[in-house]
Amino acid sequence: PDSQTPQTLIDTNVLVAKSLARFGIDRMFGVVGIPVTSLANRAVAHGVRFIAFHNEQSAGYAASAYGYLSGRPGVLLTVSGPGCVHGLAGMSNAMANAWPMIMISGSCDQKDFGRGDFQELDQIEAVKPFSKLSVKAKDIREIPEAVFRVLDCAGSGRPGGCYLDLPSDVLHQSIPESEADDLLAAVADSFAKRQLLVSLPNSEIEKAVSLLRHAERPLIVCGKGAAFARAEEPLKKLVESTGIPFLPTPMGKGLLPDTHELAATAARSLAIGKCDVALVVGARLNWLLHFGEPPKWSKDVKFILVDISEEEIELRKPYLGLVGDAKRVLEMINKEIKDDPFCYGRNHPWVEAIAKKTKDNVLKMEVQLAKDIVPFNFMTPMRIIRDAILGLGSPAPVLVSEGANTMDIGRAVLVQTEPRTRLDAGTWGTMGVGLGYCIAAAVASPDRLVVAVEGDSGFGFSAMEVETLVRYQLPVVVIVFNNGGVYGGDRRNPEEISGPYKDDPAPTSFVPSAGYHTLIEAFGGKGYLVATPEELKSALSDSFSARKPAVINVIIDPFAGAESGRLQHKN
Ligand code: ADP
Repeated sequence: PDSQTPQTLIDTNVLVAKSLARFGIDRMFGVVGIPVTSLANRAVAHGVRFIAFHNEQSAGYAASAYGYLSGRPGVLLTVSGPGCVHGLAGMSNAMANAWPMIMISGSCDQKDFGRGDFQELDQIEAVKPFSKLSVKAKDIREIPEAVFRVLDCAGSGRPGGCYLDLPSDVLHQSIPESEADDLLAAVADSFAKRQLLVSLPNSEIEKAVSLLRHAERPLIVCGKGAAFARAEEPLKKLVESTGIPFLPTPMGKGLLPDTHELAATAARSLAIGKCDVALVVGARLNWLLHFGEPPKWSKDVKFILVDISEEEIELRKPYLGLVGDAKRVLEMINKEIKDDPFCYGRNHPWVEAIAKKTKDNVLKMEVQLAKDIVPFNFMTPMRIIRDAILGLGSPAPVLVSEGANTMDIGRAVLVQTEPRTRLDAGTWGTMGVGLGYCIAAAVASPDRLVVAVEGDSGFGFSAMEVETLVRYQLPVVVIVFNNGGVYGGDRRNPEEISGPYKDDPAPTSFVPSAGYHTLIEAFGGKGYLVATPEELKSALSDSFSARKPAVINVIIDPFAGAESGRLQHKN
């Protein structure tokens, strides 16, 4: 422009919004306030859908799950200081689950830092233990590069959380629009040019195939890393062409349908206890898989680990490690098998043993499930919910599950038929994720209904977000298993009830028969209170067909279920 034409200026808020949009980000979760309100408004004006929450913790859980479900980093926006600290719940959850997300926080004015500014905190230091990368933009000209770096890092290698710090003085800076556009174009160009392909030698693939071919009792374990990699097609091909039984981890459920004839879910102890070769795809040999050690696993089992993270392979020291994207590695394995196929077949003793054990265990559980127990235990309502969900067919709803007994029993009873349709407390056993996950799922998969099956304790962490459900009219049905507290209210032994505060409610108790369904009614959503099979069936049928925000308060016998669910040995 010549010196006579006034230049159009844009501020940091606009430049952040433009940079996000240029990277392909079109959703953001968060809580507004000083100094980021304008950033949220600008992002919306640039085509980014902003979902405004009540609490950064919930919004952070939403951003983490959105990263997993959409395959693109979920974005959390928070205010400075306390907002950033609340948001860490979400970012640490993303790190623990290996999901891509970024947290963007405002921070105090750089010149006032160190003398007690409003919401002052050294946020870069605070987030370090919970993030892969933390970047502070000290000037508006650093914005495009900073935004691209955190987004790129969150999604590369093992996914995780990254942090972008925007001081309030930087948020108030402006530069000519033409300069901003040039900066942005240059950054986008340099990121697009990078080549990140790591190639896996074919000899490693041959070794893996040879191990599977010569095993006596092979097993394929698939985890949420395989689900994140969208590996369902090559996984199905591998399982069905070789006839090898498979075992999904809790969130790996649905990569192949739970009802598949080679599913070993209901024969888990036998499958992991007796297999001699285990191909583990996108799942860590951590507590959830008993560290891959005896007594749950045989001491001679040969693990073939497929993981995007080289450190993970180094940590576990498997018999064979294949570093790479799960989908790509499985495709390579299938290609190698194609030239010289093999199949264990239904009559193979191992396949037959797993099938028999599965059938026996399923029958045993069905006997328990068939009974209509009132007051409700966990099994009866879970069966009714399972059948109602199955009745919906495809697209299957996204199921969100948390709580001790509610999640454990739900995992065994509820049936997953499609990939990435189960979100639960995950690697970290994080409670309180439910409402955030529901909102993320509804935003990520608008064609699917979202059904949460939660304990009353899990629900309570972020129950106010039912207002968010109503405000955005999301198709989410939250079913609360209400047994009056953590693990079901007061379960203390007589010797634990003494001292000056012995008449206080037990640390595990909530108000008995709390009216959780009335919370959503306060905002214009639909609430149901149910205590019998007929009432529950009717509430499910009504709310599933309405596809509107609803809370179903299911009264459960406080003495049903166990303390700590199935993790009593950890308590
Ligand atoms: P689960 O909870 O299902 O057992 P984990 O979260 O323990 O699963 O493990 C998931 C693993 O998947 C992590 O080690 C992560 O590094 C890995 N992973 C993430 N993305 C990919 C990918 N695209 N391909 C292969 N592995 C991946």
